[in-house]
This record gives sequence, structure tokens and C-alpha cells, in this order.
Amino acid sequence: MHAVAAISQSALAHNLSVVRSYAPNSKIISMVKSNAYGHHLDLVKPLMQADILAVSELSEVRSLRKLTNKPILLLPGIFNDTDLQEAIQLNCHLVFHDLSQLTVIKNSKDPINLWIKVDTGMHRLGLPIDQLEQTLSQLKNNSNIHIESVMTHFACADEPTHIKNSQQFDTFSKLNIQHYSRSMANSAAIMSLDKSHFDYVRPGIMLYGASPFSNINEQLMPAMKLSAPILSLKTIKAGESVGYGATWTAKKDSRIVIIGIGYGDGYPRHAKTGTPVMINNTLCTLAGRVSMDLICVDIGDLEVSVGDIAILWGDSKLRVETVASYSDTISYELLTGVSSRVSFIRRA
Ligand SMILES: *Cc1c(COP(=O)(O)O)cnc(C)c1O
Repeated sequence: MHAVAAISQSALAHNLSVVRSYAPNSKIISMVKSNAYGHHLDLVKPLMQADILAVSELSEVRSLRKLTNKPILLLPGIFNDTDLQEAIQLNCHLVFHDLSQLTVIKNSKDPINLWIKVDTGMHRLGLPIDQLEQTLSQLKNNSNIHIESVMTHFACADEPTHIKNSQQFDTFSKLNIQHYSRSMANSAAIMSLDKSHFDYVRPGIMLYGASPFSNINEQLMPAMKLSAPILSLKTIKAGESVGYGATWTAKKDSRIVIIGIGYGDGYPRHAKTGTPVMINNTLCTLAGRVSMDLICVDIGDLEVSVGDIAILWGDSKLRVETVASYSDTISYELLTGVSSRVSFIRRA
């Protein structure tokens, strides 16, 4: 008896179709970095119906190449010739975001599909605007280099009214790159800023059924259902405490179940008392601190038996976004953090 993450194939397919309905005129890059946002690459086949897939490490390209023939975009690109050779062999498209990559790219003896990343205000990866024109002119006459697209990334798209969104959009749309294809939108921009869709959209979190915004979006279907069994049921007398630090004290005699999941499985240790946990279709509440292997849940008057299965997230009534907000984090962190001890299975 232990924790299971079941990955719904129909939810993934549905969420991809939601992306298509938001951005019907754009090609789609399924962002499957970080082992498909923690869902495991080999369990997200439906996302491989997109036009391109994107990951952030060459090791992920190796795994992904065994599963699909689609082009794979390597987000940090490459920095040395060994990696370049392997990337080309694996039919990788490469992001070019820093001038230190120029020599290796320019000297390639094989054709390269290159995506030029420009920094429009996030100030993470991307060429400064004033390096863009010169870099493009250096690369475009090289017969081995095909510039597939110019891309940039939003810093604040999850806050649709943030001033930085229109600033970045204006900066990007004014660049003299109209004859290149362009890519800008992540999930939040796909859902909130149509004009940013351009030629390629780059959905991540929405493919997995979580909203990029602070509110939940019913259109998206949770792809990962995380569950674990009830190992024990007991009554705690009023005034007695439960768990490490004795942070939760029963106000009245209380029925508590102990569930076989904890931070060692990726359930967040910072989940507060009161975080919802679903048992037999009913929302109950976390009581006291999360341990490495166990959590304690106040079940009130609910009928339960040892062996019943609790859902930690991934139901339409209990979404990962809710657990994230009770844990002062975001759904992305919870989904990518489910540990290797958990059994991952495919679900229809
Ligand atoms: C991860 C990533 C995305 C997807 O972001 P979501 O918020 O998950 O949609 C898009 N573009 C780039 C460059 C990324 O690294």
C-alpha cells in the first residue's frame, strides 16, 4: 500500500485541444521539460500530437527521442561541440540566447535549426535587444543555419493586468523580425492575450490541467491524480495533539486517519493544517504537520475504513492549485516534485 500518481491520457488530450481552441492559428510546442512537469515523459503520449516538444536538458532529449519523431526544442541550447553533435543527431532544434554560443554554432558542419531568444524584459535568458540585429545578420548568411523562429518569454503573464506584459509585447512586436516566425506565449498568455500568440505558442502548465492564474479554470482537466491509502483510523481525545511539534490539538474528541504519503513522496511539507484531502468523495482537512511518510487528516463523521484511498490532488473537486495555495507555492512545484517512490501509472 503506497502512493500512486495516475496520469489521465484523456485529460492530456483534452487540454491540448483547449490550447488549440485558444490559439487556432498557431503551431503548438508542448513544454515537456522537467519530466513533463513531473508526469513522466513516457506517460504523456497525447501531448506528442503537438507540432514540437520542448525540454531543458540533453538527457531529456535522449529519453524523449525514444518516444517520438517530432522535432524537439532544447531550451538552453548548447555550449560545446560534443553537445552540438549529439543534439544534431537527435534532431534537436536549439535555442540561441547568449553570444557565448556563437562560435560553436557558427562552426557547425551540419545543418542546425535555431531559435533566437531575445530578452524583452524578463532579464533571464535571451539576447539583449541591442545584440539581436547584429547576431541575426551574422547567422543568417551561414548556409548551415536555419533560423526557425525568434522567441521571447513573459515575466508576468500570470498577472494579466501587469504593466510589464504590454511593455514586453510592444518591445517584441516592434522588432524588425517580421520575416521570421515568432513565439511568445506561455499558458497564461495563451489564455489571456490573443495578440501574443504569433506563430508558435508554448503551453506548459495548462496541458497538465492546472491554471496558470490564481483562480481555477474549469475548462482544464487535471492530468495527475495523486492518491494514497488510509493506514490507520483512530479517535483523538479533546486536548490531545497529533503529529510532530504537536501543532494540532483536538478541540473535541476527533476521528483522525493516518494516510501513507508525506514529503518523501512530494506532498508539500508546508501544507497547512486545514489543507483539503479528499476521502470517499468528501473533502476533509489536514491536521498537524506533514511527516516524511505520513499525514494525519481530520475526517469528522465520515464513514471510512483502513485501506480506503485518499486523493491528495487531481480531482475536479480538489485541484493541485488549491493544495499549492495552502502550501504557499504554485502547482508547478508540486507537480514536478512528486518523488520516484510514488508509482506512476497510465489511466484512460
Ligand atoms: C516552461 C516554459 C513555458 C511554459 O510555461 P507555462 O507557464 O507552464 O505555460 C513557455 N516558454 C518557456 C521558454 C518555458 O521555459
